[in-house]
Amino acid sequence: MLDYSVDEIKKVVREVLTELQEETIPIGISNRHIHLTEEHFQLLFPNEQIEPQKKLKQPGEYAAKQTLTIIGPKGSRENVRILGPLRKQSQVEISKTDARTLGINAPIRLSGNLKDAVEITLKSPAAEITIPAVIIAKRHIHMSFADLEKLHLTKGEIVSVKIETPERTTIFDDVELRPGEKYVLEMHVDTDEANAANIGPKTVGKIIHH
Ligand SMILES: [Zn+2]
Repeated sequence: MLDYSVDEIKKVVREVLTELQEETIPIGISNRHIHLTEEHFQLLFPNEQIEPQKKLKQPGEYAAKQTLTIIGPKGSRENVRILGPLRKQSQVEISKTDARTLGINAPIRLSGNLKDAVEITLKSPAAEITIPAVIIAKRHIHMSFADLEKLHLTKGEIVSVKIETPERTTIFDDVELRPGEKYVLEMHVDTDEANAANIGPKTVGKIIHH
């Protein structure tokens, strides 16, 4: 029979617990939002600077003070937040529910991929522009390259994430990985996905390896 001291057992328990904790992924709910280019920002907010109002979890990213009204053929949504910093491409990310309200059929795309993105009108107190920029963001997990290794994943892999919540435990397939040097481990879902799975501010997910 093997003999372990109490200290040795404690050490093993601690290691197992740490490993389990490392494998849970915090979940961030993305509400509808807008990314703008410098050019589009200047058109909509002449002589203004983008003004950070609230830091987001991913380093350097923030919700700006400025908002816009987005207008589709069937409806509109007011006070849609602009997220900073400004980007090389303008992009409007909405939920499927928003798409229905606006009367548009937006494609599900990973942020940055504007293939078949749908036209939308963006309105500020100063101006109005119509650009092909609307997508429904594909769910994804931000992580550092160290996280990638720790979780035994490879770049480009598609994973499934189990999310345990009261009355609505859900497994999401088709989850993309977004590894990046400065990213912090966080899964992003939209408000439709969050509601479907009863996700709250403290909900975490777990990767089911494929
Ligand atoms: Zn994201």
